[in-house]
Amino acid sequence: MDTPGNLFVIAAPSGTGKSSLVRALLELDAQLDVSISHTTRAPRGQEQDGREYWFIPEDEFRALIAQNAFFEWAEVHGNLYGTSRTAIEARLREGADVVLEIDWQGALQIKELFPHAVLMFILPPSWPELRQRLTRRGEDSEAVIAKRMANAANEVQQAHRFDFVIINAHFDTALFDLKAVVHAQRLKYAAQRRNRSGVFEALALPPSTV
Ligand code: GDP
Ligand code: ADP
Ligand code: 5GP
Repeated sequence: MDTPGNLFVIAAPSGTGKSSLVRALLELDAQLDVSISHTTRAPRGQEQDGREYWFIPEDEFRALIAQNAFFEWAEVHGNLYGTSRTAIEARLREGADVVLEIDWQGALQIKELFPHAVLMFILPPSWPELRQRLTRRGEDSEAVIAKRMANAANEVQQAHRFDFVIINAHFDTALFDLKAVVHAQRLKYAAQRRNRSGVFEALALPPSTV
């Protein structure tokens, strides 16, 4: 499926900083929308239904799978997560650039459906730093953190399947890197041809007619 909008897919082990980076990116870039996933996970302290996620019970999630309502879904850390078609289809068709913050399994499913999707993997600078971020965030129990740390070791093995890798050691450097990838995508020939058609049309006339 091809669409006029760019599709950016961002994956990272839990606690790496992807939600913070995406939030900062969206504040800087009015042309970007983030897709709100459905999940069976319970909301954390400050999370609101329809803002971070659509929080739904597992039977409802399974019913949506049966209705083919998801572009992709995956089980992550024992919960189900999915990107609904309605979350992104219309926005992409309108030409918006959309960001998916999803796990690596979902990212690879999206790449199959949208070969032009740009896959970015964010790495933490080290294991101790990742553990510290998960602990400092203060949203998950020690058991949940232990599970996420164990899964992180497998997740980072998937980085080689992604188009870009960003290391989130210093937040502002990582944000700059993220912006650079988004910007470069908008400079691709097809995007420039579509968005700056006036320039191309003017340049198609011979200089002598001007
Ligand atoms: P976080 O890792 O701290 O952001 O914790 P979350 O519980 O919010 O997310 C858990 C995992 O599920 C992360 O890897 C997310 O990227 C992933 N995830 C979130 N939404 C989706 C989705 O719609 N589809 C898929 N496949 N993964 C998702
Ligand atoms: P994710 O969405 O990947 O699970 P979050 O965005 O929730 O991660 O970030 C996890 C924690 O790490 C948050 O408390 C966040 O403020 C912090 N954090 C993010 N990036 C950095 C960084 N570069 N240096 C230090 N702390 C960071
Ligand atoms: P958390 O529960 O900490 O918000 O997210 C846990 C993981 O699930 C994160 O890696 C997050 O990116 C992933 N995730 C969130 N939404 C989706 C989704 O819609 N699809 C997939 N595949 N993964 C998701």
